[in-house]
Amino acid sequence: MRRVALLFVLAVFVPSLVLAWLAVRSLRDQQFVLERQHSLLLQGLADRLARDAEAYLQERQREFVTQVESLTADSTPAELSPRFDEALRKAWPFADVGFVVAHNGKLLSPSPWGRPEARNFCVANAAFLGNREPAEVYAYTSRFAANSQALDEKNNPSTLLQQRLNTLTQQPPATNPARQPGEQSDLFQAPTASQAILTKVPTRTVVPQQALQNFSPKEAGEAEPSSKVAAAEAEFRQLIGESSEGSLARFLDNKLKVMFWYRPPRSPQLIFGAQLQLPRLIADLKPVVKVEAPLHEEVCVALLDDAARPLAVSHANFQPTSWKRPFVATEIGEALPHWEMAVYLLDPNKLSQSARTLTLTISLLVTVLVLAIGVGGWLLVADLRRQLTLARQKTDFVSNVSHELKTPLTSIRMFSELLAEGRVTDPAKQRNYLQVITAEAARLTRLINNVLDFSRLERGEKKYAFLRCDLGAVVSETVEIYRPHLEQAGFKLELDTPPAPVFVNGDRDALAQVLVNLLSNAEKYSSDRKEIRVELHQCAQPLPFLEVRVLDRGLGVPPGTEERIFEQFYRAHDSLSSGIQGSGLGLTLARQIARAHGGEVSHEIRAGGGSCFALRLPVAA
Ligand code: ADP
Repeated sequence: MRRVALLFVLAVFVPSLVLAWLAVRSLRDQQFVLERQHSLLLQGLADRLARDAEAYLQERQREFVTQVESLTADSTPAELSPRFDEALRKAWPFADVGFVVAHNGKLLSPSPWGRPEARNFCVANAAFLGNREPAEVYAYTSRFAANSQALDEKNNPSTLLQQRLNTLTQQPPATNPARQPGEQSDLFQAPTASQAILTKVPTRTVVPQQALQNFSPKEAGEAEPSSKVAAAEAEFRQLIGESSEGSLARFLDNKLKVMFWYRPPRSPQLIFGAQLQLPRLIADLKPVVKVEAPLHEEVCVALLDDAARPLAVSHANFQPTSWKRPFVATEIGEALPHWEMAVYLLDPNKLSQSARTLTLTISLLVTVLVLAIGVGGWLLVADLRRQLTLARQKTDFVSNVSHELKTPLTSIRMFSELLAEGRVTDPAKQRNYLQVITAEAARLTRLINNVLDFSRLERGEKKYAFLRCDLGAVVSETVEIYRPHLEQAGFKLELDTPPAPVFVNGDRDALAQVLVNLLSNAEKYSSDRKEIRVELHQCAQPLPFLEVRVLDRGLGVPPGTEERIFEQFYRAHDSLSSGIQGSGLGLTLARQIARAHGGEVSHEIRAGGGSCFALRLPVAA
């Protein structure tokens, strides 16, 4: 039995515990992967929106080029230059100021004496555009030829800086097919590395939470994340180099100014440019800042300026704790330096909550599974133990019954042979031998009746003839039949029944069999004090019932076996140790018969030693 339990623990329980542990471990990894996937999804959203904003600017850049082309086609460059600011603003609503720079660095348009915007523009930009002093600018001349790979590379600050350095330090080709030899001016001279100074990479105003979480402790302890967009300090001619178009951005009094420039092939000695109307641009960008379903219910996106102020928000009423702490964010790039597309969680607890719910559910499942395996195993082992006990009891039963059959048969045979041979002549002895034969035959009958009744009950074939009968009479008759045998064996038998008849609905023979079994046990399990008492009472509580009590002064039922003695084949005093023969069926049958009559047989400890078995039956109406 112990081996089976050990085998179960080793073959089923330990592996299932290991599996459960692995499942919980992989669950933690799974949770991490889920969270990572979620943040990657949202990062993808921020990246896409940033690309959309960038594409929008490229579209404006193309529009500007078309405008310049059409304006230069309508009039000569010399005629157009002075009135370019006015002409461009009229033709293209995005222009705040239109400007023209000549090859010698002279600002041909706008006029510094014109409207206030033009005057301010000249004051702020004349020196830079005229190559008289360098300025801190963000430029990316080859950006509009950029393909997706270039965009990816852009995400790496070191690649970006290197790219810009290359642009600034690029040597001019020996001959430029787009330009006549005589047209080469100072403006178009290639810059040298010493002329271009890269300013240090600025830190980001916006700190995405997801980026912080993924930092190692050392990195987290360092300064805030650095921006992917770096400014270069250079003069205008250095920045534009050999390119034919591009964009520039600079901060003047902490305000962002974005410019497009274009060098038309038909007048390469002139650079046409436009400073953009940012409010107009922002208003136009608003439709880009939106989230489609199903993410719409989950996140809010916002376009943030360089100070992390929201310029366009997908959810009008959304107010985060800090606009500077989005879940994820992507910088738009050099065209709008330090502007970001930021994604905020509408319910920041939802992610951890759903992850926690998932962990809890799966942990619960694993626990239930392990428990089920444990309980199942325990039930299996318990059932196995029960089956083994039953098998042992059945073997004992067979040997007990054989023995019980053999003993009376031997006596019957011996005494009948003695009588048959006529060797016993004393009539008293003869009577005594005949009494023994009768008693042994009765014992055999009892045993066979018990075995037969038990098998009938097991198969559900036992039939009772329920009739209204006087229980007092049944008890008296049975006791009186048994009395000579008991008294001969030296027992003092007392019977106490009420004088008036007491009725039950029952099968007389079956009830007599119960009583015989109880009397036979009282006889078998008595030792020196051979006293048996049979009582019949009528009780009123809780319902009116009749109680037959068979009391002895014998060995008593061993403690702890009080209920088990009613199980089939169970013997508290086994034949080997006690020398008392039995089949373990007497009480089983007595209880089954009593229950079939709506009653019960139970055991009570008798005060002063011995046992008391009580048969209770409901009173007949
Ligand atoms: P058996 O044939 O073994 O007597 P029973 O079903 O009649 O089978 O009884 C089951 C067990 O209950 C007995 O083996 C015995 O240990 C215990 N028992 C029954 N009656 C008595 C009693 N009057 N006194 C003590 N023990 C008893």
